[in-house]
Amino acid sequence: MDEPVIDTHAHVTLCGEYLDPARYDADCREGNVAWVLDAGIHPDDFAARKAALSPAHGFVTRYHLGVALAPHEVERATPADLDWVEQILREEDPAAICEIGLEYAQQGEHRAAQRELFSSQLALAKKYDKPVFLHIRDAWDDARELVAASGVRRGAVHCFSGGVPEARAFLDLGFHLSFSGIVTFKNARPTQEAARFCPLDRVLTETDAPWLAPMPHRGQKNRSSWVRHTNRALATLRGLEEQAVHRAVRVNAEALLGLG
Ligand SMILES: [Zn+2]
Repeated sequence: MDEPVIDTHAHVTLCGEYLDPARYDADCREGNVAWVLDAGIHPDDFAARKAALSPAHGFVTRYHLGVALAPHEVERATPADLDWVEQILREEDPAAICEIGLEYAQQGEHRAAQRELFSSQLALAKKYDKPVFLHIRDAWDDARELVAASGVRRGAVHCFSGGVPEARAFLDLGFHLSFSGIVTFKNARPTQEAARFCPLDRVLTETDAPWLAPMPHRGQKNRSSWVRHTNRALATLRGLEEQAVHRAVRVNAEALLGLG
């Protein structure tokens, strides 16, 4: 029997231009995707994502929602937006604060503001006891420092793109590492080494759909069912059966998110 897979990070409604939520779900059903964690970028996307992915549509795959002010939003983010994130945490009980972090590759001129935005949301994670999913790009040391200071120990580095030293730093903080299509790319040696290094009970996988499609679909619009290719790459790297990776990732993610 084929183990169901899960996807700990996708932007399902942003895939709508090529697969609307109903077709996305049909594709998930064919791919035996049990559930997806749908990531938020700004609190203003939450209501529409909730409506589009509601269980009332009779979808086979379950869509859990994250809420966040992503680092990419740093220029337009206001204190009121942070209050809005908190209001959603209080009233909607989302599954996670996802995705938050530091993006120095694209928004490097706003480092101080990004750190403040990140720290404020780590504090919210602590206050509402929510797992966090971290976006970290060219900012490993700052991210590690802020997470360490926050006391938050429940979460994952989404789309992990570091090597063994970065893996070790976040594993030591109690975090999971979520591997994406990057581990299927030939030129991703350091991340493949990190994927071998990470204890199996801290491994997660994701698509980050619509981006980052794994091989053999690299360059196409991604979708949750393709997480299998990433799991397969991990299985090969670690000398495991593919089904064992499907199972481990699902068990790890469900424990992290507190899903019954
Ligand atoms: Zn994302």
